[in-house]
Amino acid sequence: MERIVEIERFKEEGGYESSIRPTDWKEYVGQEKIKKNLQVFIEASKKRGEALDHILFFGPPGLGKTTLAFIIASQMESNIKVTAAPMIEKSGDLAAILTNLEEGDILFIDEIHRLSPAIEEILYPAMEDFRLDIIIGSGPAAQTIKIDLPRFTLIGATTRAGMLSNPLRERFGMHFRLQFYTPQELAKIVENASSKLGKPIEPQAALEISRRSRGTPRVALRLLKRVRDFAEVNNEELINLKRAKMALDELGVDETGFDELDIKLLKLLASSGGRPLGLNTIAAALSEDEGTIEDVIEPYLIANGYIERTARGRIATQKTYRLLKLQPQNRSLF
Ligand code: ADP
Repeated sequence: MERIVEIERFKEEGGYESSIRPTDWKEYVGQEKIKKNLQVFIEASKKRGEALDHILFFGPPGLGKTTLAFIIASQMESNIKVTAAPMIEKSGDLAAILTNLEEGDILFIDEIHRLSPAIEEILYPAMEDFRLDIIIGSGPAAQTIKIDLPRFTLIGATTRAGMLSNPLRERFGMHFRLQFYTPQELAKIVENASSKLGKPIEPQAALEISRRSRGTPRVALRLLKRVRDFAEVNNEELINLKRAKMALDELGVDETGFDELDIKLLKLLASSGGRPLGLNTIAAALSEDEGTIEDVIEPYLIANGYIERTARGRIATQKTYRLLKLQPQNRSLF
């Protein structure tokens, strides 16, 4: 079954998402500290007439990292080239991208923690000295050719800061961690998107969608899309609270926004009798890969106090036992 609140690791539905993607700071809701800092850095570098320092964004998928990169590019009046680390397989792939950049361009690399060590090696001098070192041939006859690159800005995005190698992390002048959004912030995003799409939504209905969106704009916008379908089928001009609730219930998104996998994970932890469980145990029990659990499922549950991560593994908190209506020592659930 499709997970309606699922946040995929790679973006799809290009048309829908890009049609509502904010293009300036006014439309970019929340993340106030990041916004303020970036605005200062952009203004300063424009005044100096220099390219912006390299920037690293980290945080769970769907929180607005790509969107920030696009806004930065438009504020800097620069071109932006977008790619993802899994698409850069060979050193030649990266060399081709880098040599095609122009002065002041922005290169956005998504999932940057997935670059192979060999590719990272090429990136270091490119980021630091705007130079490409290409080795031609092998053995004693090997030669290094140095090519000067234009001054560009690399914007990297990663869902896992911990997986980035130190030398790479250090070469970014600015690091920003994105936070989950409050329901009020998400409601604003939903309202803006709704009016852009020509189907306005009542504030209460927007809030209802937001409460069930795991603090994530991509989830909220996906739910909005589905709720809109229900309103459309019923010939309604305005999406109201009743329709939103009905549609969300119909889609199986509960009051917390948790889906089957979240609940499975919480039940698993609650059934361990307080014993911490390691990531590999959890992955095996849920038949999911560790990356999905760590990047996509856990962060929201941890940020909202349902799970604690200890040195020995993950444990369920009182809040989880309350949610599942369990006594903390209940062992017979899973
Ligand atoms: P990420 O790169 O972190 O996975 P994206 O930047 O692709 O996330 O954001 C997903 C969607 O959510 C985009 O379509 C964008 O329109 C919307 N979005 C994200 N953050 C915001 C925000 N702060 N304000 C308004 N819309 C946002």
